[in-house]
Parts: sequence; C-alpha cells; structure tokens
Amino acid sequence: MNIIFIGPPGSGKGTIAEKIVSKYSLTHLSTGDMLREHIKAGTELGKLAKGYIDQGHLVPDDLIIGIVQDKIQNTEGGVLFDGFPRTADQAKALLLVTKIDAVIELDASLELVSERILGRVICKNCGKVFSRMNYSNDTCDNCGAELYHRSDDTIETVKERYDVYLSYANAIKSVFAEQNILHKIDASEELEEKVIKISEILDKLI
Ligand code: ADP
Ligand code: ZN
Repeated sequence: MNIIFIGPPGSGKGTIAEKIVSKYSLTHLSTGDMLREHIKAGTELGKLAKGYIDQGHLVPDDLIIGIVQDKIQNTEGGVLFDGFPRTADQAKALLLVTKIDAVIELDASLELVSERILGRVICKNCGKVFSRMNYSNDTCDNCGAELYHRSDDTIETVKERYDVYLSYANAIKSVFAEQNILHKIDASEELEEKVIKISEILDKLI
C-alpha cells in the first residue's frame, strides 16, 4: 500500500503521518527530511539543494526525483510519501515507478493554520512541537530543553506558504483525479478522529 499525504504547513500532517506509518508499518518518506540529511552530511546533492531551500524555492525536479526513485528501489513494503510530489512532473515520475493507492488531503483553512503556526513552539533539543494554546512552560516536557519559535513561522510568511501549498496541491490533485483515489480529511478535527477516518479509508485498500 502506497499513500501520499498532502496538507498545508500547520495542518498537523507530520503528527498524523507518524501515527499512520506505525499503525500500517509503512516507510515514512519525507523529502524535506531526506534533503536535510544530505545537507548535514555535506553531500554534493546537499550543497546543491541548500541554495534553493534557503531561498524558499523548490529543489529542481530532477534532483528530487532521483533521490526518491533511489529510495523506493531500496525500500520493501508500503510507503507514505510526505512532502512529495510537489509538482505535476514529480507526480508523473512517481507513477512511472510505483502504484499509488490513496492521496489523503488534510483540508485546513488559512485561519486555522495561521493560529496553529503562530502559536507553535519547538524544542531546541528533541524537536517536539508544542502549541501555546495548551502549553505555557518555557521548557520541553520531554527532555527539559529550551523552546523556540521557528524564524519562518511569522504572520508575513504564513499566507505565502499557504498559497504556495494550494497551487502545488492543485497540480498534484489534477494528476490523480482520474484515478478516483483522492480523499479529503478535515484538519480541524481531533487527532484521534482524523486517524480513525484515515484508517477507514486505508482498511478498504488492504
Ligand atoms: P515544510 O517545512 O514547508 O513542510 P519540508 O520539510 O517538506 O517543508 O521541505 C523543506 C524544503 O525542502 C522545501 O521548502 C523545499 O525547498 C525543499 N523540498 C522538500 N520536498 C521537496 C520536493 N518534493 N520538491 C522540491 N523541493 C522540495
Ligand atoms: Zn525536548
């Protein structure tokens, strides 16, 4: 079973993806994480990618498609794609090497993601994310380290990132529309409720 997860920044995509990956024993393939690993390791690809990422641009399709195809070839079992595809060409390239069973879209308004993004703080040490709506401590409840607010999590960038997401989401959806595998989930519901709804969709595919 291979599924694609899409949703705007702040829609809770990462948290839900973690739950679904462990419940269905899927491999979590996040291109953002893969690129950050290349940058950390100082690879040629990492050096190339960093220039684009730092400017807020997408990394060129051929670089991304190359690392994803490589990863798919070395992965057994199902995959949850997170952050990929981001363009119609990436979606078409993916379909050449694998079959996609479902595209899950987390539907969230600009209002909802703004509230979440502006109120989110992250642990400097372990990366755990907290919401100021229900967490007011200055330190992480997991490891005790200090919390920080992401420098790109501002009112100015939220709308732009949301619009960028909408445009690539539409491109991806148009590629998969014919196959009738698009499913929309309301991101404003409770986490457990969303996991149940997604599970109902995935259970039918097994
Ligand atoms: P976000 O924090 O916005 O969810 P990610 O962690 O998924 O972003 O990715 C970080 C950056 O890596 C993106 O802004 C983009 O520059 C690059 N990137 C990640 N995935 C892709 C992709 N599929 N195509 C092109 N660029 C990508
Ligand atoms: Zn921590």
